[in-house]
Amino acid sequence: MSQTLLLLPGDGIGPEVTAQVRRVAAVLTPDLTLDERDFGGISFDRNGAPITEEAIATALKSDAVLMGAVGGPKWAGVPRDKRPEMGLLGLRKAMDVFANLRPALCFDALADASSLKRELVAGLDIMFVRELTGGVYFGQPRFIETLPDGQRRGVDTQVYTTSEIERVSRVAFELARGRRNKVHSLEKSNVMETGLLWREVVTDLHKRDYADVQLEHMLADNAAMQLVRQPTQFDVLLTDNLFGDVLSDEAAQLTGSLGMLPSAALGAAGKPGLYEPIHGSAPDIAGQGVANPLAAILSFEMALRWSLNRPAEADRLFAAVEAALAAGARTRDIGGGLSTAEMGDAVLKAL
Ligand code: NAD
Repeated sequence: MSQTLLLLPGDGIGPEVTAQVRRVAAVLTPDLTLDERDFGGISFDRNGAPITEEAIATALKSDAVLMGAVGGPKWAGVPRDKRPEMGLLGLRKAMDVFANLRPALCFDALADASSLKRELVAGLDIMFVRELTGGVYFGQPRFIETLPDGQRRGVDTQVYTTSEIERVSRVAFELARGRRNKVHSLEKSNVMETGLLWREVVTDLHKRDYADVQLEHMLADNAAMQLVRQPTQFDVLLTDNLFGDVLSDEAAQLTGSLGMLPSAALGAAGKPGLYEPIHGSAPDIAGQGVANPLAAILSFEMALRWSLNRPAEADRLFAAVEAALAAGARTRDIGGGLSTAEMGDAVLKAL
């Protein structure tokens, strides 16, 4: 049966970068069916909601979903529940994608563009596995109240269950087996109950099912420091929603432009994954045809690998991106002058 990739181009530069994914897919995987739906602000304009029920149902039936980006100043005044970002949260929830994979890897051709010295980032290849649907961003109760003395008090709740920790840890251990076989699990077990539970559950699971994988526990604050001191010591980093949000952004910055960074959000085995560049809709450059399409193209590479089970095509695409960069192809954000389509051309030529 033929596989389907649902494209959700979205707003701003989203359609510009996903157009290059279309071109790549036409050459690399001509048998892959591409479907497309409105998403974000454009969906609100056309359909009155940032994502329609029909689009969500289509996503759930697809083999993988690849989005561009959503949002922009045009929709700043839209009611909160109809904002483009709400469409994204709704989609993640509907797809139950609990493990966020964010690679931070340094292409040799771009090592000098890093804010760290070349010798610290050359060869960097790390994978963050961030828990995406639990923790303090979702825990109840959460509120702001006014106290009798007139002060205001804000409350968020950090909460994790065994099964939430276990399922995301499994993803990290499985990934490590296909890489350099090392997992660092990050928490604050010294000061947080959820951190203590996190460490215990990861340790138990490791003992039970993944004793062949090297496991180290590290306090999240130490990890923040180690990431800028010696990032190449890491292979897979496993952490919760909040620490993952912060530390994966830090790691991303090690390798240069937002325009280079893909991500994946995975749910249970056999369910479609959600792939997206980590950048936003970049309203400041939207419509100019200068956005870097590589984050979107590398998100497609991840979809080929993790949802579509086409590792050979993923390897080919990755090598093509590497070759295009080595040959000097650069969009503006990475110090060159190519347009979005010309960067697409460079990848196609290398393919
Ligand atoms: P942004 O990522 O859109 O842009 C930050 C900066 O990086 C801008 O200067 C932009 O020009 C540049 N940039 C981003 N992607 C680039 C690319 N591919 N090539 C070249 N340069 C690139 O973040 P922002 O400006 O904070 O947010 C803009 C809008 O995007 C907001 O509405 C925000 O809510 C939304 N947003 C959406 C997502 C998403 O869809 N997942 C993520 C982040 C932000």
